[in-house]
Amino acid sequence: MNGPGFATVLKRWYTNNFRDLPWRRTRDPYAIWVSEIMLQQTRVETVIPYYERFLARFPDVAALARACEADVLSAWSGLGYYSRARNLRRAACQIASTGSFPRGYESILALPGIGAYTAAAVASIAFGEPRAAVDGNVLRVLSRIGNDSSDIGSTASKAAFQSQADRLLDRKDPATFNQAMMELGATVCLPRSPLCLLCPVSSFCEGRKQGTANQLPVKLRKAAIDEVKMTVAVVESAGRILMWKRESRGMMAGFWELPEAGLLSALKERRAAGAFTHTIMNRRYRVQVIAGRLGKAPPRFQWIALENISAIPVSTIARKALAKCPS
Ligand code: SF4
Repeated sequence: MNGPGFATVLKRWYTNNFRDLPWRRTRDPYAIWVSEIMLQQTRVETVIPYYERFLARFPDVAALARACEADVLSAWSGLGYYSRARNLRRAACQIASTGSFPRGYESILALPGIGAYTAAAVASIAFGEPRAAVDGNVLRVLSRIGNDSSDIGSTASKAAFQSQADRLLDRKDPATFNQAMMELGATVCLPRSPLCLLCPVSSFCEGRKQGTANQLPVKLRKAAIDEVKMTVAVVESAGRILMWKRESRGMMAGFWELPEAGLLSALKERRAAGAFTHTIMNRRYRVQVIAGRLGKAPPRFQWIALENISAIPVSTIARKALAKCPS
């Protein structure tokens, strides 16, 4: 094929079209790491305000290592997948004890909560290490470019796609190349309708040429969604909300929750306050929210002043339910 190669064309497009996101204005490995962890399973628009608040509160690894877990969880509160925040703090403690941020891919990968994609992203963007970072967006681009219908969920295919990305990688400028691949997947090579007419690398794309891009990537195993119905109660008394705190072990350890309505037989002035759905992994919660009043807190529950709720870790379900009852 004549003309500039894949990486050159892709990088030129990225340089002229990239979205100016806060974590793209830095080469600080800590800031890049925080952004990559927050972006796992979470949309860019949601992450931006959390990222900015988090870095203002914990500006470097030492600040995060000094923080108590409850403070870190409260800064994360609403982003979901809280093991990410716990691992971030655990890793910060490890880094702080060694004195500096690990520089190589392998040592970054050894930190708690960091997988191959995140280690490659941090190593390439912060330190210029030539490692292709392959996340879901990049897998989709690769499967379409190569017109490859192998199952992107299988370990063998993932390894093959990683090799393909390593071959395409611009080893002299892996930071720009990796970010350009992610940006292409996020803004042009979209899951349902790829914008092939706007695509800078369409002349390299076998999926477009063969007319198969819309059917790619192939993902065979799909976990069944488990539906869970629940009703929670927002019980207010004199500017305080009735809540309970989870044990310090297990799922959502240390988080504050609203009571399930079935536990409050004495609830007075019950009224429906709304409904929402919330999905965690392969479980979808259908949540009804009721509001009401109670004279005194039953055992296990505590009254939390409304103005203190933003300072404690509150589960996303409780946060969404509280939003249905603005006081
Ligand atoms: S040509 Fe279309 S399918 Fe191929 S990489 Fe570009 S947007 Fe994706």
